[in-house]
Amino acid sequence: MPELPEVETVVRMLRARLVGRRVLALRVLHPDVFSCSPRLRVDELTGARFTALNRRGKLLLFEFERELVLSAHLRMTGHFWIARRAAARPAHTHFELELDRAQALRFCDPRRFGRLRLLRRHELGSESFLRRLGPEPSELSGAGLAQALARRRGALKAALLDQTLVAGLGNIYADEILFRCGLHPELICARLRPAEVERLRSAIAEVIAAAVACGGSTIRDYRNPEQGFGGFQIRHAVFDREGEPCPSCGTEVRKIRVGGRGTHFCPRCQPRGRRAVRRAATN
Ligand SMILES: [Zn+2]
Repeated sequence: MPELPEVETVVRMLRARLVGRRVLALRVLHPDVFSCSPRLRVDELTGARFTALNRRGKLLLFEFERELVLSAHLRMTGHFWIARRAAARPAHTHFELELDRAQALRFCDPRRFGRLRLLRRHELGSESFLRRLGPEPSELSGAGLAQALARRRGALKAALLDQTLVAGLGNIYADEILFRCGLHPELICARLRPAEVERLRSAIAEVIAAAVACGGSTIRDYRNPEQGFGGFQIRHAVFDREGEPCPSCGTEVRKIRVGGRGTHFCPRCQPRGRRAVRRAATN
């Protein structure tokens, strides 16, 4: 699933090609992926220009004239691309905006978990998903993070995946962040020491900034809108490297499950200690 750095890469590429362009028509080819606020009509988008493209967490926000916003969550396999309008639609194209200059913005999604929603800008504040979303990694404050962690009794890895603590992280970057700051994924959030919270905060900001600078990671399905690959996966220290030597100490990287998710870590650089959650008995 694309995480913040991959979505940011998509946003930057699309922004350069879409801002200023006009929408000539909107086509919903599969009703599962698209919804529209009951306060507006779908055809209000016809004739409007793109004014901006932004991101919040893993959500893309296409902005248009008339205060219209199309929010898009790519989920597992959703992706956008810009094509000639006359070109045959690829399989699994579920949504299309016809653009000026004989082009089209298409949303393809083989697994159909992606979600697009058209609404007015002022309605964004009442979307429950956005309301609960935590701060962006670059805007996370030490005090805010400490306060949010102090309320949680669960495992640190699970908290990083929960978008309310910090927005935009998924399985890859959560593992990389915890490796970078030397914290075991099963540590109980509320038992982190102040210095550890600060290390975590800077690791979140640094890992995400580095991944954005590389254009994200390509694992399985992710492609950017120019069908390119991200470049960050070659820098993964632990993610998907079970059994390989830790780049820092040479100990074998281990894989466990935390909150149902495959989790990679170095048992030596990220010691479990006595402040970890109890493991459920296996088998
Ligand atoms: Zn190590």
